[in-house]
Amino acid sequence: MLKFQNTLSGQLEEFRPLREGEVRMYCCGPTVWDFAHIGNLRTFLLGDILRRYLKFKGYKVTHVMNITDVDDRIIQQAERKGVTLDEYTAPYIEAFWQDFDAIGMERPEVAPRATQHIKQMTELIARLEADGHAYASDGSIYYRIASFPQYGKLSKINFAGNIVGGSERVDTDKYEKEDARDFALWKAVEPGHDAAWDTEIGRGRPGWHIECSAMSMQYLDESFDIHCGGVDLIFPHHENEIAQSEGATGRKFVNYWLHGEHLKINGESMSKSKGNYFTLRDLVAQGFTPTAVRYSLISAPYRKQYNFTLEGLRSSEKTVASLQDFRQRLADARVEAGSNPQMKAAAARALKQFEAGLDDDLNTSVALAAIHDLTREVNTALADCQLRADDQRDLLELIACFDAVFNIFSRPQAEMLDTEIQALIAERQEARRRRDFARADEIRDELNARGIILEDTRDGVRWKRRGM
Ligand SMILES: [Zn+2]
Repeated sequence: MLKFQNTLSGQLEEFRPLREGEVRMYCCGPTVWDFAHIGNLRTFLLGDILRRYLKFKGYKVTHVMNITDVDDRIIQQAERKGVTLDEYTAPYIEAFWQDFDAIGMERPEVAPRATQHIKQMTELIARLEADGHAYASDGSIYYRIASFPQYGKLSKINFAGNIVGGSERVDTDKYEKEDARDFALWKAVEPGHDAAWDTEIGRGRPGWHIECSAMSMQYLDESFDIHCGGVDLIFPHHENEIAQSEGATGRKFVNYWLHGEHLKINGESMSKSKGNYFTLRDLVAQGFTPTAVRYSLISAPYRKQYNFTLEGLRSSEKTVASLQDFRQRLADARVEAGSNPQMKAAAARALKQFEAGLDDDLNTSVALAAIHDLTREVNTALADCQLRADDQRDLLELIACFDAVFNIFSRPQAEMLDTEIQALIAERQEARRRRDFARADEIRDELNARGIILEDTRDGVRWKRRGM
């Protein structure tokens, strides 16, 4: 039975989707003002393991992850560089997907961009205003927290008695609000700044919180199953999402809230100023494989703080290599026909432990231990020539099942960059000019093996990625 530790109830709860056989989930996505760091990636990996395990359990999954492509930092950076928001964010969005693919995550079914959903946001804001949950002030629009008595139910922060005029939290907003805790749904933009939309609720730009309410409900309906993100989003971001969504619809927004714990680096919080800040690119530049980074980041249960060290990553590198070698050895082993009951029992035990671990609030370390126990037993059997053909087939299938969730047994090649592809195509053209058809074919095959399909047309060579 699959159970999740639900932040909303504070309890370990059996998972029951709203619609039979189907799961709708939303994970807060990246703010594309810079490259994602490994702390961000650990949170996205929670979404990846979750979606993969739900599929393993037979559910049809619809996973939505937003791309925050407008916020104060993005606007500031774009203005400083004298470029539009789109021009500023485009390379970071591309880099994000490259990292996402390289670390072996499955892309969500929908990845909506905030700037392409302004209409959904302004409609939601208008609805909140009509119902008294929001008010305008100086061209901005705020959420009236006093209108939503359950405010605080996710973060368990008790706001009773100090809502009006409370001042424990420093109010840094420069506009007039009825209450210090009210938050901006829509921010007025002063003339002279480009990052603004002219809408029915005025000229301005959306706040960050409204983006997630509007886009999740657009693609998953007003009530859906699972929402995940990092613990730092519980308050205020997710608390505000609940207030916005439930304020507008009067329905329960989300049934299960899953929050990933912080990542520490050598026991400290990660920061650029401390020099302990890593992106995936930094680690790959140091010679680590993305799969080892993936293994490290998923090796501890998501709800536990994870202490990342380069030493730990080196050991993940060895672990991953040994798992990959193991699978290769198993596949290559020349075995006699038949089956060995001991191997059958070992496989059944491993599957049971794997599921028991992940059923228990996605306890990845228990599930990984099941895989390691199995590889030890099979290695011994291989060494003693005790493995038979049926075992070999069943074990390879079982490993494929495990890998559908963990994705650590294969050596994924990073997706080729457009520039690499174009360079190879140019080299192929040059080979053909020299009538070196062997080399030209070799390049075509190499590209084909990496999922790039070439098409020779009258206008020259066109290429596309397989499956796109
Ligand atoms: Zn969000």
